[in-house]
Amino acid sequence: MDEMEANQFREFGKAMIDYTAEYLENIRDRRVLPTVEPGYLRPLIPENAPEKPEKWEDVLKDVEKVIMPGITHWHSPRFHAYFPTANSYPAIVADILSGAIACIGFTWIASPACTELEVVMLDWLGKALGLPKEFLACSGGKGGGVIQGTASEATLVALLGAKAKAIAVEKKKHPEMKESEIIAKLVGYTSSQSHSSVERAGLLGGVRLRSLQPDASNKLRGETVEQAIKEDREAGLIPFYCVATLGTTSSCTFDRLDEIGPVCNENEVWLHVDAAYAGSSFICPEYRYLMKGIERADSFNFNPHKWLLVNFDCSAMWLKDPSWLVNAFNVDPLYLKHEQQGSAPDYRHWQIPLGRRFRALKLWFVLRLYGLENLQAHIRKHIALAHYFESKVRGDDRFEITEEVLMGLVCFRLKGTNELNEVLLKKINGKGVIHLVPSKIRDTYFLRLAICSRFTEENDIDVSWKEVKEAADEVLAEQKQ
Ligand code: PLP
Repeated sequence: MDEMEANQFREFGKAMIDYTAEYLENIRDRRVLPTVEPGYLRPLIPENAPEKPEKWEDVLKDVEKVIMPGITHWHSPRFHAYFPTANSYPAIVADILSGAIACIGFTWIASPACTELEVVMLDWLGKALGLPKEFLACSGGKGGGVIQGTASEATLVALLGAKAKAIAVEKKKHPEMKESEIIAKLVGYTSSQSHSSVERAGLLGGVRLRSLQPDASNKLRGETVEQAIKEDREAGLIPFYCVATLGTTSSCTFDRLDEIGPVCNENEVWLHVDAAYAGSSFICPEYRYLMKGIERADSFNFNPHKWLLVNFDCSAMWLKDPSWLVNAFNVDPLYLKHEQQGSAPDYRHWQIPLGRRFRALKLWFVLRLYGLENLQAHIRKHIALAHYFESKVRGDDRFEITEEVLMGLVCFRLKGTNELNEVLLKKINGKGVIHLVPSKIRDTYFLRLAICSRFTEENDIDVSWKEVKEAADEVLAEQKQ
């Protein structure tokens, strides 16, 4: 058989490691945004899969020829769009090992190490963030953590747990009520500034979610949630779920968890905290004030795959009482049963799919090979670089900062109309040297500059500022003509 031999795999693998290291080391020299048009790729490769095996050397050559022209370089220091997605050598190596083991860890027996490492890593990480012990498996209580694929999944899974709990509680109070009647009365809450995945979780979960208005500083307040709960109870509805965001996508604003938590607890409303991006900063003790009130939450989630140097996908979620999920999602066919059932988590009950990769390896490698000290340094450096860019913007009185800079995101705009800022962004992205995306809050359009790459230095920020400033010079000159 002409399949790839182990020796060939070694050669190909080593060559790929060299290619990968070189790609990342020199990434800043590549144009951040590709220039290809839709459909660019098909003519570059044959119409059909080859009958005979090809040489790995040829495949590797084609990576540069076929793939790289169509890549947006997310790890370039010139990439400032969205929020960061993480990338580190330890996590890449862990993914190689995960690929070799290639287990599907849906139950404990399906690969005990896969489940057990995940339980311990979520404890390590939870302690590193300073989460209350009620969330940690090592506390011996009900709580524990799980790795989901994305924050969107975590929000949906929490909603489904909250829904199961609300149905059980209502059935106890009103045994005469049908489940469908209860579901029709359920109502959840979030801010109009929360991520679109929250609204989507409501749609997928088949329940109503109300989008509440945040205050003038874009934070969702306790009294707003309280008022909505009161109105809905008066209308005969059943409030059951609330999502608070720590670090919103548009402007990295922090909802007032300290106010929302007590309101949710008093009203038996499940509180889920979405800290997808900003949660990583809590490994630095000086930023934990931003999660004040976390002890009131029922579930908490953040993405190490955003800002903690663990490659996608790794979304860490903790629950104080996972039994609501486990019971809600528990279908137990004979072929998935095993003798140790009940003495360790079977993570298939904590998530939507059945299959799951060995993602805890990435966390283990990253936590050990960086140490908390270097992960903290990474967060602090990004925040310092954001403040450096902020100082450039503040130093030019044609611009304004639209949101307090707390993390690695700077929201700014040219003083003037939305249209002016739209033209500015088009010009900046059109040159392809740096890449930003905009946002809009209450009809004010602004630009978002996120510090994304672990390779970013002050010099890179100087380049980015130069791009922004020169584009502004041109836009303002054109406007005068
Ligand atoms: N929540 C917030 C606050 C986010 O900023 C994002 C993405 O940027 C998400 C959720 C969605 O994350 P994911 O892609 O992991 O679902």
